[in-house]
Amino acid sequence: MPSTLLQTLKAADEARTAVGHFNVSDSVVLQAVASAARESGLPVIVGLSEGERNFFGTHEAAAMVNAIRDSHGQAIFLNADHTHSVESAIAAVKAGFNSVVFDRSALPFEENIRETRNAVQTLKSLNPAVIVEGEIGDIGTGSQIHEKAPDRLVLTTPEEARQFVQETGVDVLSPAVGNMHGMLKSMLQGTTQKRLNVARITEIKAAAGIYMTLHGGSGTNDDDLREAIRSGITVVHVNTEIRVAWKRALQDAFAKDDAEVVPYKLLAEPFRAVQDVVRRRLQLFNSAAVRAHST
Ligand SMILES: [Zn+2]
Repeated sequence: MPSTLLQTLKAADEARTAVGHFNVSDSVVLQAVASAARESGLPVIVGLSEGERNFFGTHEAAAMVNAIRDSHGQAIFLNADHTHSVESAIAAVKAGFNSVVFDRSALPFEENIRETRNAVQTLKSLNPAVIVEGEIGDIGTGSQIHEKAPDRLVLTTPEEARQFVQETGVDVLSPAVGNMHGMLKSMLQGTTQKRLNVARITEIKAAAGIYMTLHGGSGTNDDDLREAIRSGITVVHVNTEIRVAWKRALQDAFAKDDAEVVPYKLLAEPFRAVQDVVRRRLQLFNSAAVRAHST
């Protein structure tokens, strides 16, 4: 099994599979993600945004992931998701995070390039092995339930992807290819799904020649996900689906027995619900290559 995150990305890229990235806010969800990946025999990336790190603790999350890696010998990696400042990125790298999503995509393109290039240099000087991901384009904010879709999400062009990668030196690129953060109410009801522009993914991959992350994987059409992975997506982020499963299971656990107060009994339900989501998603992310041979 590949031992570093870079080797893991390389192996996934060559096999045309994707590494699952799941966000966690606490130790219960972290353990659920880790155990589902372990049972599946697959590598996994655990992500914490700045908000999630503030709640969990940057050092605490790193210590726990290290403990899981040591106890079980599994390939589990830690990502500082959507980091908006160099200071916060430095804190994560110093704590031992394997990668940083440096997100200045809200800035004009040239400023984003300048700040991301600076961040790559600063973070690699602290740890040359750290993987830095850069973000271009608008995919909306917030892994939560949105009333309606954002007005206009502009797709990344192959030309700007190539320029961004060349000028910043990032290891991984996050493009806007029809994906968006969070889920719509209609997606929870199962009446709509996110659709991806797979042709654009292929073009960007050819132009930028780099590992690519798909953010906002929750609620995406399964066939689109398989095609996207086959076309060059290396990592897929899933957050909202986990949050929804976690909340529903917790509500069920509370409703089932009003007298129950034992946390590990109540929390066993969301633990299992999160495991289920992770298991199903990992299976899908690793089925793309198989499907590619059979079609
Ligand atoms: Zn994201």
